[in-house]
Amino acid sequence: MSENTTAITAMESLEQMIGSHQNGLSQNTENRKTGIEQLDTFLEIIKRRNPTENDFHEVVEEVMESVWDLIEKNPAYKNLNILERITEPERVLMFRVPWTDDNGYVHVNRGYRVEFNSAIGPYKGGLRFHPSVNLNILKTLGFEQIFKNSLTTLSMGGAKGGSDFDPKRKSDAEVMRFCQSFMTELYRHIGPATDVPAGDIGVGSREIGYLFGQYKRLKNEFSGVITGKQPAWGGSNLRPEATGYGLVYFVQDMLRTRGTSFKEKRVAISGSGNVAQFAAEKAIEFKAKVVTLSDSSGFIYDANGLDKKKLSFIKELKNEKRGRIKEYAEAFDGVEYHKGEKPWIIDCQIALPCATQNEVDEKDVKIMVKNGLICLAEGANKPCRPAAMHRLLNEMILYGPGKAANAGGVAVSGMEMGQNGSFTSWSREEVDNRLQKVMHNIHEQCMLHGLDKSSGYLNYNKGANRAGFIKVADAMIQQGVV
Ligand code: NDP
Repeated sequence: MSENTTAITAMESLEQMIGSHQNGLSQNTENRKTGIEQLDTFLEIIKRRNPTENDFHEVVEEVMESVWDLIEKNPAYKNLNILERITEPERVLMFRVPWTDDNGYVHVNRGYRVEFNSAIGPYKGGLRFHPSVNLNILKTLGFEQIFKNSLTTLSMGGAKGGSDFDPKRKSDAEVMRFCQSFMTELYRHIGPATDVPAGDIGVGSREIGYLFGQYKRLKNEFSGVITGKQPAWGGSNLRPEATGYGLVYFVQDMLRTRGTSFKEKRVAISGSGNVAQFAAEKAIEFKAKVVTLSDSSGFIYDANGLDKKKLSFIKELKNEKRGRIKEYAEAFDGVEYHKGEKPWIIDCQIALPCATQNEVDEKDVKIMVKNGLICLAEGANKPCRPAAMHRLLNEMILYGPGKAANAGGVAVSGMEMGQNGSFTSWSREEVDNRLQKVMHNIHEQCMLHGLDKSSGYLNYNKGANRAGFIKVADAMIQQGVV
């Protein structure tokens, strides 16, 4: 189907039905009459309605820039006010999370769940436990998640949640008490057909276990309400690996468009958590030389490249001992530790930011391009500042935005939901095959919607935004004003 052949018939009939009442659909009636024709005017509405949420403003702008001409061509998108509806979460939950530490002191954190859009399936998106968590960040990530989930072609809406709780330096018992308190409120709002959270920064298999255990106890039911579970009790094979492996499969397709591959390429990775570890593992398997990893204290540079043994050390250090990345430099010869710095100063041809949002700025891109960068793909969500992204696009570097490149994680989460629903369990090979197909399909969608025919440049960001948006916007129209 071509881009412009949206579900126009359904739209037209709805439009006629609603007809002259359309101005009453919006709280911003005056704005709509006077100027929602213009992207700038629409962005002003977003800023007024969501003051101080700068990251959210940026993500809305970035998506809308990519799809604005589609909106102009399809009057139903404007007339049924898809713009304001798609940028307003369906529901935002914010709640108190009290918990007691090992010394008997009582602490209070804030819990959130942003249920952004359920047009194409139950709300789906990770939970993040990190001191930087706030409504601005979660709305930003929840908005991204809508289009990412749409790209996977699975039936999942968009959501994000979490807390400003920091699991670092907490005992297992403290993390368990926090997770139980968090779920004691959240359980009322989620369910296998309503909202299915997963992990994210600070929420790994330990936290998923505690969250699931408390849900099961409160609801007296064993259901697929959360993904990222252990395979022995309802989890999918390959879920931990899925985001990192999927990222590398996607980059493989990107490199193919320039007639090249991972072989012997120098790869800089940031982060050393779930996504970074498995991106490194697959890149090494594809014969790349992974030279950096990082955490929030600094990065290590291993000029010889990581291998399987060194990666096992990282997994044990980070997943079991919960240590710091600098211990890698102490354990292996010839490794530099750069305190307080980011890996982007090291020569590389492929950069995979896999730590957190806003970790790559324009200056970093300038340095990387000078050093011979050919591809940057986002394992993390929104790691590139807008100026960094624009620089990558202007330099015609292969740029894989997170909503496409890191969608492997949520895709396998969707597969976990499917396996839970049918009480089956697929083998690692089966999940891996399906993951490769999903990533390949996302790449195809980006090509279909993002290829600039005159320059030949493939703008993956534009492609991903357009493909993700059309499906959700059309579903919203077909489901009426809800
Ligand atoms: P983890 O908690 O496993 O790892 C996060 C890594 O990033 C750690 O090395 C952490 O270091 C580092 N980090 C966190 N905050 C900062 C910071 N402010 N500055 C520098 N480094 C930082 O998380 P994941 O690997 O699961 O997630 C990483 C990114 O990937 C996130 O953006 C997440 O949203 C995204 N993502 C994750 C998916 C998944 O399946 N897990 C799916 C899709 C996207 P430290 O230990 O010092 O905090």
